[in-house]
This record gives sequence, C-alpha cells and structure tokens, in this order.
Amino acid sequence: MSISICGGGSPLEAPPATTDTCEPHTPKPVGVLDWGEWAEEMSKTHDQTACPGCGLFLIWRPKETH
Ligand SMILES: [Zn+2]
Repeated sequence: MSISICGGGSPLEAPPATTDTCEPHTPKPVGVLDWGEWAEEMSKTHDQTACPGCGLFLIWRPKETH
C-alpha cells in the first residue's frame, strides 16, 4: 500500500545526499510529470528550501501556521 497525492503512480524517492552537510532530502516522485503535480500540492502546505549542504532545493518544510 502506497500513499500518492496525484495518483500518477511514481514511487517517492529521496535524492541521495551528496555532501557531508546535507540535511535529509525530502522524498519526491521519480517521474518529472508526477513531480510537477506533487510539487504543486506540496507547495500548499510546505515551503521548498535549499539544502544547506548541496544547495539544491530538495528540502520541503511544513509551513508554519499561525
Ligand atoms: Zn543536499
């Protein structure tokens, strides 16, 4: 049983850390098309952040709600 937001069927996979200072990268869909839908949904509840190690925008943090 897998959880899928968009139903695209791509498995989620975390990009491997490439530096010693990488924070754990957020798992994302493997397929580019699925990623687009997934990112749109994720952006509603999360902020995309650059990894402090590799500098790529691979980390999603839950938005703070006030
Ligand atoms: Zn990184």
